[in-house]
This record gives sequence, C-alpha cells and structure tokens, in this order.
Amino acid sequence: MQYNYDFEVASLLFMNMILLHFSFSRQFPIEKTRIFRAFLLASITECAMNIVSCFGLANAAVVPQWANDLFAFVFFAFEGACYYLFFCYTLVLCEYSKQEERRIRLIGLIPFLIFEIMVLFNPLLHFFYEMTDNVYTQGWGAQFGYYYIILFFLLDVIITVFNRKRIPLTSRGIIYLYSALGVVAIGIQYLNRSMLLTSTAHAIVLILMYFSMQNPSQMLDPVTGYGNESALILQIRNRIKKEKSFAVITMDVRQFHHINAIFGYERANEILTEIGSYLVTICDAYHVFHGAGDTFTILVDNEKSLDEIGGKMIERFEGIWEAEQVQAVLNMSMVVQHYPEDFATIPEFIGVRNYMINKSKKLRNSSVLEADRETLQEYERTIKVEMALNRALSDGTLQVYYQPIYSVKDHKIVSLEALSRIEDEELGFIPPDEFIQIAEQNGSITQIGEQVLEECCKFLSKHVLSNSSLGIENIHVNISAVQGVQKNLTENILPLLEQYHIPPSMINLEITERAAVTAPSLLKYHMKKLGRLGVTFSMDDYGTGNSNCTYLIQFPFQKVKFDKNLVWSYFKKKEAHIVLKNEIKTVQELGMTVVVEGVETAEQAMEMEHLGVEYIQGYYYGKPMPEKECLRYIRNFNPESEEYGR
Ligand code: C2E
Ligand code: CA
Ligand code: CA
Repeated sequence: MQYNYDFEVASLLFMNMILLHFSFSRQFPIEKTRIFRAFLLASITECAMNIVSCFGLANAAVVPQWANDLFAFVFFAFEGACYYLFFCYTLVLCEYSKQEERRIRLIGLIPFLIFEIMVLFNPLLHFFYEMTDNVYTQGWGAQFGYYYIILFFLLDVIITVFNRKRIPLTSRGIIYLYSALGVVAIGIQYLNRSMLLTSTAHAIVLILMYFSMQNPSQMLDPVTGYGNESALILQIRNRIKKEKSFAVITMDVRQFHHINAIFGYERANEILTEIGSYLVTICDAYHVFHGAGDTFTILVDNEKSLDEIGGKMIERFEGIWEAEQVQAVLNMSMVVQHYPEDFATIPEFIGVRNYMINKSKKLRNSSVLEADRETLQEYERTIKVEMALNRALSDGTLQVYYQPIYSVKDHKIVSLEALSRIEDEELGFIPPDEFIQIAEQNGSITQIGEQVLEECCKFLSKHVLSNSSLGIENIHVNISAVQGVQKNLTENILPLLEQYHIPPSMINLEITERAAVTAPSLLKYHMKKLGRLGVTFSMDDYGTGNSNCTYLIQFPFQKVKFDKNLVWSYFKKKEAHIVLKNEIKTVQELGMTVVVEGVETAEQAMEMEHLGVEYIQGYYYGKPMPEKECLRYIRNFNPESEEYGR
C-alpha cells in the first residue's frame, strides 16, 4: 500500500519548531514541564518513525526487512507512550494529592504496560503487525490499538469533567479538542488506511499547549527575566505535593517607588535586574523569583543554607547598588516562612506572607521577620476580622457613632464626627483602627465609606434639616486615603446627597495626608469639584508621620485637625508647647481653622481655648455615641435646642 504521509511531515516540522523554542527558553523544572517535554519528544519520535517506516516500506527493495521491522517497533512503542503521557499531563492539571494521583495514574499505567508488553512480544506473537517478505500486514490484535487510544481519550475527558473546577477553561478546551481531533483522525485513518493523520492531532494540540499551558513567558517576569509569581506558586505547590521541607525568603525592597520617581522606570528596572543578578550568585536562577511590586523571592531547599543566604543578602544591602548611570542605597525587609511549620497550603502561604510584608513596611531599617506562632495568630485574627467586616457590610450591621465637636466661639456642639463601629457576634467589639486597615487592603473601604455617608445623610435628613435649633452645622465623614484617590469619589458622593436632599455644605470630608501624597492631582480635582458645590474639607491627623504644611498650601482645606498625640505631648513636654503654638498660628494665618482632638479634661480644654483654637473634640466633650444617645447629649449641651423634641 502507498501511504500518504504529507500531514505527518508538516506535523513533524511544527513539533520540532516547538522543541527548538522549548529548549532555548527558561523552563522551570516542574513535573508539568517534565511531562510536557516527554510528550513532545514521544510525539516527535512516533511521527518520525511513522514517516521513516512508510518510506522504508515504499522502498522495500533497498531497505532491509530488519530495518523496517525496527521502525515499526519503535513507532508502536512511542505511540503507546504518547497517549499515556498526555493522560499524566491531565492528571497533573487536576492538582491531586500525591497519593490520589498515584492511585488514578494506575488506571492508565496498566493498559499502557500491557500495550508496551504486546509491542515487545510482537516479533513473536505478531499482535499488532507482521512483516513478511518486507510487506507490512496488520496483526490479529491490531484493533486493540484503536481501543487503547479511545480508552485514553475517554479517561482524559472523564477526569477533566470531574475536575472542571480545578482545571482552567483553556486547558479543559485543549483536552476536549485533543480527544475530539484524535477520534476524527483515527476515524479517517480507519476508513482510509493509506491516510496517516494521528500525529496531526498531536501537533495541533502541542502547539495549543505550548501557547497556553506551557507558555514560557507566562512564567517569567518581563523586567528581570526571572520566574514570576505564577512560577513561584507552581514550584511551591510541587514541593508541598512531594512533602518536602523547604523555606521561602521574601524580600521587599523598601520605598522602591522613590527610586522609580527619582530615576524613572527604566533606570529603576536596571537596579531590580542588578538585585536579581546578585541573588542568582547566592542560589541558582531557578530558585529566584521576582513578584509583583518590589519583592524578590528565594526558595531554599536546603534549610542549612538559609542563614548563609540571609546573611549574604543583609550584607549586600549594606552596600551600594549600581546600574548604568544609577547608584542607590536600598533598605529591604526579609520575611522567612518554613514549610511545613509556618503554612500548609498556598493560600495560607500568600496570606501570611502579605500580612508580614505589610507589617515590615512599618519598620524603618532593613529587617528580618520570621514567621512564628504569634504572627500566625495575628494573621488568623485579620482573617476573622475580615470575615466579620464582610458580614457587617452585607447584613448592614456596620454602625455609625457620632462624636461631638465643640465650637469655642459659640460655646456649643456644632459638628459631629461619624466613626464606624462593628459589634460582631463572634468577635465582639472590633475597633476601627483594626478593621479600617483591613478594609483598605481588601478594597471594602469604599463600601464602608458609602454606608457611613448614607447613614450620615439619613441622620441629617431626619434630625438636623428639620431642626436647625439643634445647632449642628455639619457632619465630618472620614475618607480613607484609598478612597480619596479613587477616580469616582465625587460620583459616589453626590447621588447620596441628592437622594436625601442634603446641602453639600453639611458634609465635611476628613482626609489624611496619605491621600495627598499618593495621588495629589486626583485628590485636588475631587476637592475642587466637591468644594465648588459647598462640601468642606479637613486635613485629618495633622502632626503625625511626616506631616508637612506644604499640603495645606496646595490643597483647599478649611479645617486642620490636630492629632491627639500632638495635643497630649503638649501637656507632657515643654518643647511641644512651642511646636503646637506655632503650628496653630501657621494654620490660622493660612486662613484655616483648627480642631484639636483628644481633649480629655477641663484643664486641657481651657488650655486649648487659651491657645486660640476654634474647635475642640475629645472625651471631655463626649465620646463617640450611637445616634440616639448623641442626640440626647446635644440637646442637653446646646442651650437653645433644649426646648425641642425631647
Ligand atoms: P480619627 O479619624 O483620628 O478619629 C478620632 C479617633 O480618636 C476616634 O477613634 C475617637 O474615638 C478617638 N478619640 C476622640 N477623642 C478622644 C479622646 O479624648 N481620647 C482618646 N483616647 N481618643 C479619642 P476611633 O473611633 O477608634 O477611630 C479610629 C480611627 O479609625 C479614626 O481615627 C479613623 O482614622 C478611623 N475610622 C473610624 N471610622 C472610620 C470610617 O468610617 N471611615 C474611615 N475611612 N476611617 C474611619
Ligand atoms: Ca477623622
Ligand atoms: Ca484624627
């Protein structure tokens, strides 16, 4: 018979091109990649042997029978391997545990071994084929070959359907396509024996696999060329599966955004590459990863070398980093996590790591943080608080308390600051300092902001608009730095004010300097737009961190709220007298009014009045209170409002 192997020749070409690219790109030594390589090589060998075999039979006059016999033998051996290897690849995608995978693999291993044994004994049994007088004829068990292939297609499809939640959509599509193409190719070949097509199905699937599931660029960070976060996760997953103990060092380069801002991205990237190059000198390139942000991760398989690697990194960061035309001294923090002591799963690893990196950002100098029981407990607490926060937001049980702000000039309460509270069934009272930070990280701060603002609007509409003699002029609402720099801040606020018919002048937004530092132009835009409508603004927590009066010049604030620590230090240290006095004077000369926070005693209140501040907020005039209690308090406090609505 004259075989048509044109498709096989084209397929061989494509598969070799993949092999070439595969061999020259950085591939992480993980199981999935090893199986892919084996599948690729088996498919190439099978295809090449198929072609050579057809060629040999067509030229039987010159090719000896033993050679044709050998070609057919190798072809069958590798054909059997191809379908089994693809089955193994599918299993790896399912992310089974080591034991589970071993058990399921056995379902494929048994037919595979039977197939290979039959190939091995073919010269004696003539099961698949027979070669007599250099002519190829199908053996008595040739049908078994077709059943074998169909069995594997069925296994692949069944396993994929069962694990559809674990296997990404593209990968599932490719597995189904492979099975469908394979069946079509076999069907055509069955009807037309001279048409060789099975390698075409392999080639098409290998191309698709290489561009999606095995794409090397998906695993590499474009800036440094080292593995990215996906590669890291895969490597960790592999180690967990093998039940190996190992350590992960995550190194966060401090304040790298300053380097970006000063030198520009390109130069800053050169420094990152430089750091990466150093790291691969202390451990090999497959153990270094560059993640999102300015973090590098090192996988340490031999825990004995952990101290040595850590020590070298600390030492190196004491020196200068140099790239072309750039020099920089950098601080870093290192977070060390051990498997299996400090985490059991990938989500736990990521959660604890991010938690610790955030924690380390608050430290000033280079530092090393080891995950320990305490950090794990702290991390678990943040998870619980996050869950409580989600519950409060979805059930609408986030409460708003109001704290009075006293006007020195009017001798009465003129404003209230809205402060959120969570009273959780499981965790009890959760202080805002705890949940606001979590909300800023997970993005639900916007929802908090909206719910608090809506509560304030309801409060104003119900108790203040119809009762001007209550004396409340406005409500202060906290806008977190994360919210303050969102594009749609203005669009989120205005509809609420309209819905409850609240004059914008009754809303004062408290913003910390952090928002001004993060995105000054966007914040200015919102302040101008809302300000034109009558919304007023307070600079919150003035006197903490690296507060700077230039922000007071640049941004249109009406009030400046002096942080309680600044006020408290006034009563503790003589030197603080000068600072507070001068700061108050400066703010007032700039045309803004001063609110002091944290005033707890009559003596403190009197002293602040003497300093000439316009407003006082603190426990002396009232703690944050629930709505009703607060209303009662104001009616008692503000003389004119006494006759109303008790
Ligand atoms: P903040 O904006 O500086 O609010 C003032 C904090 O100081 C409040 O703490 C208040 O209870 C406390 N305070 C007021 N007077 C005194 C005093 O005389 N002595 C003492 N020891 N403390 C006083 P709270 O309610 O625990 O809130 C803490 C922080 O949480 C707030 O600080 C604010 O940054 C944030 N926060 C609270 N609610 C919200 C909210 O709805 N949105 C946003 N973005 N942040 C909020
Ligand atoms: Ca505030
Ligand atoms: Ca404050």
